[in-house]
Amino acid sequence: MTEKKTHQQRMARKKEVIDARIASAKEERGVLILLKGNGKGKSSSALGTMARCAGHGKKSAVIQFIKGRRETGEYLFFRDHPLIDWHVMGHGFTWETQDKTQDITAAQQAWALAEKLLQDDRYEMLVFDEMAYMFKYKYLPLEPVIEALQNRPRNQHVMITGRVMPERLEAIADTISNIKDERHAFRQGVTAQAGIEF
Ligand code: ATP
Ligand code: MG
Repeated sequence: MTEKKTHQQRMARKKEVIDARIASAKEERGVLILLKGNGKGKSSSALGTMARCAGHGKKSAVIQFIKGRRETGEYLFFRDHPLIDWHVMGHGFTWETQDKTQDITAAQQAWALAEKLLQDDRYEMLVFDEMAYMFKYKYLPLEPVIEALQNRPRNQHVMITGRVMPERLEAIADTISNIKDERHAFRQGVTAQAGIEF
């Protein structure tokens, strides 16, 4: 009986705290979300959030800064969606192409498109998948990207993925999730599974 009461009291207190937090968060605007870390779940989280936006009738675009497999499950699923534009840039993984000049050209082309989308308020969600690698390998200068992000339409959400994020990008982000690798099936000898890895 007493235990039940304390539980009830604790839950009531918790609800008060949560309600107060909800009441104090009133701003409506686009957010910049960074998904980083060496665990699995960055790109899939960004694309899952984009699916949420599509569910609400919001228009989105994805730019894949690194081209992996050609026909991933997400690409096959989303490519014909009327509210989603899918752009694959680049020629392959950097460590596979081993052609720096070609990689830089691809990065610049991807950025030219990204910059255009960051001025287009019809897009309510932009996913820049693996963009963080462009800064790590110095394929793109960071300052113009920061400036374009800061000047984007007020209603526009942006999600950027990549294992390591530059500090200055983190400084302007609203939400940062660091996905930690605790275990991955690959290390137990399981090869990349269709529908899980791609
Ligand atoms: P996902 O697309 O599944 O959300 P991710 O975007 O977090 O993964 P990336 O760093 O982009 O991960 O790596 C892409 C691929 O590598 C995916 O197929 C993913 O399953 C796999 N992967 C991610 N993290 C690990 C890890 N720690 N060990 C082995 N493979 C991994
Ligand atoms: Mg990824």
